[in-house]
Amino acid sequence: MSQPLSPALTEEFETLSAEAAIDRALAENTGLPCFTCSFQAEDMIVLDLLRRRVPNIPVLFLETGYHFAATYAYRDRMTQAWNLNLKNLAAKKSVAEQEAEFGILNRTDPGKCCNLRKVEPLFEALQQYDLWFTGLRREQSPTRKNLKIAEHHELASGKVLLKVSPLAAWTWGLVWKYTADNKIDYLPLYDMGYRSIGCEPCTAIPQEGADPRSGRWGGAKLECGIHTASKQATPERSS
Ligand code: SF4
Repeated sequence: MSQPLSPALTEEFETLSAEAAIDRALAENTGLPCFTCSFQAEDMIVLDLLRRRVPNIPVLFLETGYHFAATYAYRDRMTQAWNLNLKNLAAKKSVAEQEAEFGILNRTDPGKCCNLRKVEPLFEALQQYDLWFTGLRREQSPTRKNLKIAEHHELASGKVLLKVSPLAAWTWGLVWKYTADNKIDYLPLYDMGYRSIGCEPCTAIPQEGADPRSGRWGGAKLECGIHTASKQATPERSS
């Protein structure tokens, strides 16, 4: 399916449970599915639901070279435990090559660093897929408050994918209830107080009560670009 969702179908997705949204998306779009995964708590829930339906679904991990050692260890542990079809997406240049050419961009120009190490590799990889599952939630950040469960996104190349975020409406409490109820092993960094976990140089423990993503990039920005660089192709509601 390459046509944008109708407003009616977009709204219908909003009424569906996470499981039903995944089932509906797989029925609506019979092209190749993938899941972008940073191995955060939300990702593991979507992955838990997806792996029961599409056991071999490609799990796209942005291998920036800057993740916490704990994230790499957890990624490898869960890949083995859940027999994941992990795809590590790397930038064209290694960390050493990038730092030799530009210095430490995560300090001087994090936008460029994210673009080189996340946006470019992901968007290149997405060319081959049609259905893009994510673990995004509206509550995570003001930049995500208008997120829909199902959206069509157009890449710069013109390629259009159905992007599905089954947990869009979930609260932080629900995330941890599902994790506990289903005995999902989780990234140990949460026990240290981290709430939104990305590359180590750009991730801090947020202040008590602050926005979960306020610990990212020292508060200088809230998004790396992978969820803002594509153009949403879903039509607006007419009423
Ligand atoms: S999160 Fe930080 S280290 Fe990671 S790609 Fe972006 S700027 Fe670079």
